[in-house]
Amino acid sequence: MNDLLEDVDRFCRELRPLEDIAYLERRHNDMLIPLARKYNLMGMIVPREYDGRGADNLTYARALERIGMEGSGIRSFFSVHTSLAQRLLMRHGTDEQRERYLRPSARGEKVLAFALTEPEAGSNPLEMRSRYREDEGSSSSGGGYILNGTKYLITNATIADAIVVFAKGNGGRMSAFIVDTDGEGMEREALVAKMGTPTTDTGMFELKDYRVARENLIGREGDGWRIAKEALIDGRLSVAAGCVGSIRDCLIEAVRYARERVQYGKPIARHQLVQEHIAMIRLDYVAARALVRDAVRLKDAWDRDMGSEEKRRRADSAVAEAKLFAVNAAYDAADRAVQVFGGRGWSYLYRPARHLVDNRVCRIYEGTDEILKLKIASNVLGKEYRAYE
Ligand SMILES: Cc1cc2nc3c(=O)[nH]c(=O)nc-3n(C[C@H](O)[C@H](O)[C@H](O)COP(=O)(O)OP(=O)(O)OC[C@H]3O[C@@H](n4cnc5c(N)ncnc54)[C@H](O)[C@@H]3O)c2cc1C
Repeated sequence: MNDLLEDVDRFCRELRPLEDIAYLERRHNDMLIPLARKYNLMGMIVPREYDGRGADNLTYARALERIGMEGSGIRSFFSVHTSLAQRLLMRHGTDEQRERYLRPSARGEKVLAFALTEPEAGSNPLEMRSRYREDEGSSSSGGGYILNGTKYLITNATIADAIVVFAKGNGGRMSAFIVDTDGEGMEREALVAKMGTPTTDTGMFELKDYRVARENLIGREGDGWRIAKEALIDGRLSVAAGCVGSIRDCLIEAVRYARERVQYGKPIARHQLVQEHIAMIRLDYVAARALVRDAVRLKDAWDRDMGSEEKRRRADSAVAEAKLFAVNAAYDAADRAVQVFGGRGWSYLYRPARHLVDNRVCRIYEGTDEILKLKIASNVLGKEYRAYE
């Protein structure tokens, strides 16, 4: 195992008992970030020249698989901080943005978030209402922008030091900004009464005449939608990889319990209908992992040749397919593991129940099941059959 994967494994082992308690108390796991810092995991894919670990796509996917064993909540933190925000800065950030945000984030000095969704714009981010305009009275020498809007259902929203925010300017073209969270005019609020992932942060924030320096524009004005769509390829891949880990944990737990639990005079593992659950969880695992590894291969090809539209399209399709399959396989695996555990399976004292509720959200964020089905179908049928614009 390479160094990074060993560190990830140590991190997961130290985090698990703390996560168990935080989960049962339904509170944010305050040790997630300190431990990620301790094991130097805050910049897994960030190049070494920016103080990261420089992991390639496959190593990072394997790291997320391991983290996913601890739960989709924990993995969500890395999906947003690393797969979405850091990758986006690696790809589109200026040298200055990399110094100010990428380097400190890789060192664990800054937590990042990614804010596309709004109360009125979820599956279709183009319906967003957040707006920006030129800041006539900017004190910054290069000028700047003023942002207004509300972002909703944002992972890391209340703990992030900087957030990638998407907003529309004159003419409705979307742009992306890296926004510090300590300025005047930002109000943040944690989402309450969540169904799952209680140990990681999900929240919303409102920007009221929020001033952002011109240097914080990512890419060029009008690039926002392209930047967001590219980022979602990485985000989706991270969800899919995490789900492979969640399935693996369900398999380990179901096998262990089925061997130990005795009913009708023999371990339930000897009952054939229980064996069916074990077989199907195993299938969920090998099939999801194979699709994820294939998607990683195609993403590698695109990363090596970012200008190729054909390679982007192939990576995008493979990732959408891997994500749709893996999230549903993970939900199925958790459901089957709960069944193997019987009445105990229904309790959060055991891991399958947590996987079940936490994996449920994976079918909603980073492209709902429905949106990904439409995307996959139109990839097969051709653009003229697209069911949505
Ligand atoms: C825990 C959590 C964390 C999140 N983290 C982030 C984050 O960090 N950053 C971020 O930007 N967003 C984040 N999201 C938001 C997430 O991406 C959205 O919830 C998701 O895109 C769906 O949008 P929506 O909730 O508005 O649902 P809607 O778009 O209102 O969809 C509702 C239902 O209608 C279906 N639907 C919509 N349009 C169509 C169509 N054309 N055809 C068929 N069916 C359709 C959907 O599939 C869904 O079933 C997070 C969400 C959750 C729950």
